[in-house]
Amino acid sequence: MKDCVFCKIVAGEIPSGKVYEDGEMLVFRDIAPLAKIHLLCVPKEHFAYLTEADDRRAALLGKMLQKIAGKKDEWGLSEGYRLVINQGDNAGQTVKHLHIHVLGGEALPWEK
Ligand code: AMP
Repeated sequence: MKDCVFCKIVAGEIPSGKVYEDGEMLVFRDIAPLAKIHLLCVPKEHFAYLTEADDRRAALLGKMLQKIAGKKDEWGLSEGYRLVINQGDNAGQTVKHLHIHVLGGEALPWEK
């Protein structure tokens, strides 16, 4: 989608710290990390909210969760990680392209 920063990253129009890519998803480093490891897992197809997830997109979200679980050691998340999906303004969603925050690499706030 025009003017979507994550669509531009998916299209290779803006550089990113890519850690994984396949035909349906991209995983890259957050530009302003909130933990030692802070990745963003995004579907390549643009949609903003979980309410837009039909069965096909829900299946893709499941694959994204499966991929994160499968790559946890490779990505430095062996000791645990936290997944966050911000939805809407009250949650502080700034990029309206659905994304899963993957946070870890250290004991996270409110666990220390
Ligand atoms: P949210 O507040 O859930 O919408 O999260 C958006 C996230 O995208 C924030 O953590 C930003 O730091 C991150 N972000 C914004 N632009 C970029 C970019 N060009 N490359 C990597 N991460 C970005």
